[in-house]
Amino acid sequence: MNVTVFGIGYVGLVQAAVLADVGHNVCCVDVDQKKIDDLKNGIIPIFEPGLTDLVVDNFKKERLQFTTDAQTGVDHGELQFIAVGTPPDEDGSADLSYVLSVAGKIASIMDSPKIIINKSTVPVGTADRVRSHISDILSMRGLDISYDVVSNPEFLKEGSALEDCMRPERIIIGTDSEDAEFLMRELYEPFSRNRDKVMIMDVRSAEFTKYAANCMLATKISFMNEMANLAERLGVDIEEVRKGIGSDSRIGYHFIYPGCGYGGSCFPKDVQALERSAREIGYDAKILKAVEEVNHSQKEVLFHHVKSFYNGKSLAGKTFAVWGLAFKPNTDDMRQASSRVLLEALWQEGAKVQAYDPEAMEEAQRIYGIRDDMVLMGTKEAALHNADGLIIVTEWKSFRVPDFEKMLEELKDKVIFDGRNLYDPKRVEAHGLSYYGIGRGRSI
Ligand code: NAD
Repeated sequence: MNVTVFGIGYVGLVQAAVLADVGHNVCCVDVDQKKIDDLKNGIIPIFEPGLTDLVVDNFKKERLQFTTDAQTGVDHGELQFIAVGTPPDEDGSADLSYVLSVAGKIASIMDSPKIIINKSTVPVGTADRVRSHISDILSMRGLDISYDVVSNPEFLKEGSALEDCMRPERIIIGTDSEDAEFLMRELYEPFSRNRDKVMIMDVRSAEFTKYAANCMLATKISFMNEMANLAERLGVDIEEVRKGIGSDSRIGYHFIYPGCGYGGSCFPKDVQALERSAREIGYDAKILKAVEEVNHSQKEVLFHHVKSFYNGKSLAGKTFAVWGLAFKPNTDDMRQASSRVLLEALWQEGAKVQAYDPEAMEEAQRIYGIRDDMVLMGTKEAALHNADGLIIVTEWKSFRVPDFEKMLEELKDKVIFDGRNLYDPKRVEAHGLSYYGIGRGRSI
């Protein structure tokens, strides 16, 4: 099938590559000229395991093309995906200007029937807005062309995006049009081979499903973080509790890891956006507000641990090794990352950091530029050299089995602040290091 994807970010690029890989002809349109030029030269703007090979291979086979020319994109696809960003507006609600701008562009160019598929995460009612926007433009052009607007939210996770798109757990399609359903089923047929993954529902329910999913996951995290904070004060080890409750099949082990807060481009903005939507219709979404609030303060927990360890004294002149900058492992994304809250608090106090991340150091450089109080180190071991203490922010696999003897040698104050509970406190302490995790049964 001929498919066009507008917005070649995490979602658009991965989806385009995966669709091309099963044989669809995909035209990728983005307004970012550099991104498009890079992609044509095999330079992939994001780190995502397996993505480079998939994009390069399908580009060579001419199943993927890249352009900034909207006309080429609109002419190409009977299916037009919108996968642009929906960042938070000033008040936290979803900014739909990019989505509406693409819809407007499609409407101002199209001269044959199209199915416009919204893949961006958008509030309930957006498809109606897109539909009326397109209808206004078509009538201004004096045209009567048939079109459908479908909601098809994306559930990929950064870090395993390819796998998630190639083997989705479900494909949500919101439409009331039989023709659109038929084409959408055909598009996704290669991904539904072992069982029917496609779930058809009305458009508004599909839009809401995405928010409900992200808000549920964010709620699980904030809930566990609240339990961890209580555990810390009650002399309880949250890791024992996690295993204890995870074994209950009604609860399960997924997504109940305590830590130093969630980040990324989705959970924070989606929780906020749904809470703002609720407010607009006069509903007070108390749980969503609490989820947001807990997460906000959880991002400060590591800094508070450090401060308490030094009895509230100034951290000026101290240097900390920081392991992990990305908001989660297997990505270079630092949007809303907990590391940023930590770094900025340490700098505010006059402390320096020697940071290491397997993928996100370029991104850190891009965000913060060159500064005296941030040195990016080539290895996790190098980051320890002459540091006062180690702070772990992201649970990269390569941090799981460190050389504790080296830490003992290198760290002046022989202390680890672990924002992801990677280690067994007893094992670390047996090496002569002090260890502070999240909710491990002792306050500092
Ligand atoms: P992104 O910021 O990585 O990419 C958006 C892209 O759209 C950019 O390349 C930008 O240049 C391009 N763009 C902006 N205006 C355009 C226009 N008029 N025409 C063509 N291109 C345009 O965003 P993302 O992370 O891919 O997210 C896209 C949407 O998908 C958001 O609504 C997000 O909430 C949702 N989502 C994201 C994830 C994720 O893990 N990143 C997962 C599921 C859903």
